[in-house]
Amino acid sequence: TQETIKTDVVIIGAGPVGLFAVFELGLLDLKAHLIDILDKPGGQCAELYPEKPIYDIPGLPQVSGQELTDRLMEQAAPFDPTYHYNEMVESMEKTGEGHWRLKTDGGLVFEAPVVVIAAGGGSFQPKKPPIPGIEEYEGTSVFYAVKKMENFRGKNILISGGGDSALDWTINLQPLANSMQLIHRRDGFRAAPDSVNKMRALVDEQKMKFHLGQITELHGANGQLEGVTVKGKDGDFNVECDTLLPFFGLTMKLGPIANWGLNLHENLIPVDTEKFATNEPGIYAIGDINWYPGKLKLILSGFHEAALMAQAAFKHINPEAKITFQYTTSSTSLQKKLGVA
Ligand code: FAD
Repeated sequence: TQETIKTDVVIIGAGPVGLFAVFELGLLDLKAHLIDILDKPGGQCAELYPEKPIYDIPGLPQVSGQELTDRLMEQAAPFDPTYHYNEMVESMEKTGEGHWRLKTDGGLVFEAPVVVIAAGGGSFQPKKPPIPGIEEYEGTSVFYAVKKMENFRGKNILISGGGDSALDWTINLQPLANSMQLIHRRDGFRAAPDSVNKMRALVDEQKMKFHLGQITELHGANGQLEGVTVKGKDGDFNVECDTLLPFFGLTMKLGPIANWGLNLHENLIPVDTEKFATNEPGIYAIGDINWYPGKLKLILSGFHEAALMAQAAFKHINPEAKITFQYTTSSTSLQKKLGVA
């Protein structure tokens, strides 16, 4: 059985707001673990617009989504948070001591007195291709993400899609695979030109095949895929494969949060504006996922919310203790925590 990870605070979501919460909690000596379904930090900034400039972060007249993420990671680093990527928090329940127990789809179990929901627009989930009966093969022959490359060694892989994920995985898995084929509905790609050139070179060297068309049917039994029917411009044809990886991008869905017994307001979590607390003691919600009168879904609002939430979380964990208000500029105690004094 899985060992339970015990910590002060579990943060659901490693978007910009979850990352800054690590800093604010850290100044108050609260340790955090962050969980995100993505394979990297940064939430929307890193997944949806890594290269686009943001112009309204105070003090940074222009910063790209990726650079903001990198800087927030650097700012959180002195507090040594633990990041758990590729994990979706599925359930949350109260323990006997009034703590919270969280479980992820990957089997991780956490226990903490405080949970911070910084889940933004919800969990990023793969868009599924509309092929009848595809569910039967999910997890055995059909995969929407590559968690471990080694699992695909020796397979006859068919990758579907025309974006960066499709092209990157075609190139990266080709050396491990027994055979590699890529299928896309048109002979144009929305991926880095360098990746497209690499893929075309592999085709020229006969190390893989490229098909034009759309998958309409899957063939196999008991979850084991044997091939697919493709609708091409000159009619239908079959492609043999035992593994299918569709990469059709990600969409944001509220996901399991809806099942945790929290009050919701149009799929957002209502909070007060003093503590950013939810209707459950010890559970806070900050960033795009929360709602209160006048809420603006901006990164800077999430940063402010993280600061106030951290004060409330500290008092929740240490009801007797007093917090002395301090500036990072002049407090040696805070500077020691930051490793600069
Ligand atoms: P998110 O960035 O959404 O991160 C939440 C994370 O939580 C996600 O990674 C998600 O996978 C994860 N998650 C959710 N549920 C679960 C679960 N159950 N288990 C595990 N993980 C989970 N804002 C600005 O202030 N200025 C701008 O100029 C600006 N430009 C934008 C441009 C675009 C194109 C877009 C799409 C947004 C822009 N925004 C901008 C909005 C800004 O990106 C969001 O306000 C910000 O990302 C919210 O941060 P967050 O940390 O609350 O959530």
